[in-house]
Amino acid sequence: MTSKISLCGYCCILGRPNAGKSTIMNSLCGQKIAIVSPKPQTTRDKIVGIRTTNISQIIFLDTPGLHVANKPLNRRMMREATEATGDADVVLFLSDPLTVRIEEELEWLAEIRAKGKVIIVAVNKIDQLKKEELLPLMEKFSAGGAEAVIPVSALDGDGLDILVQEIESRLPLGPRLYPEEMVTERSERFIVSETIREKVFRLTHDEVPYSCLVRIERYEEKSEKLSVVYASICVAKESQKGIIIGKGGSMIKRIGQEAREDMERQTGRKFFLDLKVKTVKEWTKNEKLIKDQFRDSK
Ligand code: GDP
Ligand code: MG
Repeated sequence: MTSKISLCGYCCILGRPNAGKSTIMNSLCGQKIAIVSPKPQTTRDKIVGIRTTNISQIIFLDTPGLHVANKPLNRRMMREATEATGDADVVLFLSDPLTVRIEEELEWLAEIRAKGKVIIVAVNKIDQLKKEELLPLMEKFSAGGAEAVIPVSALDGDGLDILVQEIESRLPLGPRLYPEEMVTERSERFIVSETIREKVFRLTHDEVPYSCLVRIERYEEKSEKLSVVYASICVAKESQKGIIIGKGGSMIKRIGQEAREDMERQTGRKFFLDLKVKTVKEWTKNEKLIKDQFRDSK
């Protein structure tokens, strides 16, 4: 299965916070999110989604380091994200035309190109965009060195077929790197913890550092259709605990609900999710905790 020859390679998704990176990765991989796994020592923040079809296997690298909503992207973050492209065969640069900062984004493009990367720009959210605004923007990205500029809507799926073809046509031929179907209990565990972590990060608007850690305490697949998950959100300070719990428990309830809905969308299964918040002093220095987090994700 893994040895089947097809177009196969890595596609790193970059773009400003809120451009729609997570949305597009989920749409592209959909029910087919085969595995989500970090490379433990090196790139803790990379999520891998895999899209396998008869002719290709695209391995998407998301950049959760950029998930901070409502925060201006500074040059250092851009550079770090660019570094994260590693050996990606293609860089998919996602732009949100509703909030585009063209100078900044073109500068970023130049930096990625300077690393010798092939860039495809997807102009996202066209469901919200006036047609006359689209073309000038596309032209700017073309002039800025994008090999292809594709208008898409990650939300309703518009343009995604064309986008996939553009990515595929730039991938090398080779053996598949991952088995076709890899929805395992292990990877699902990891998807759950990453999903919860992203919700914390997004909903608390950066008041809780991205470095908060989610520990899966118990994970049971009750049936083919239902998983039961008990998880703890570990933070370093009491004040962060309060933020996560929220007034009358409203925040943690919302985190749990959104995470659950996301999981159900990603996997097509039902989830029962029980969340707790714990203060673990200096967990960033606690090697055992960190190891535990990755134990099930390799
Ligand atoms: P990320 O920070 O780049 O990962 O962005 P997200 O994927 O989390 O998306 C940010 C917001 O944009 C969410 O509210 C999405 O629902 C929304 N969004 C993403 N793609 C589209 C799209 O194609 N159209 C519209 N209207 N909204 C979108
Ligand atoms: Mg995201």
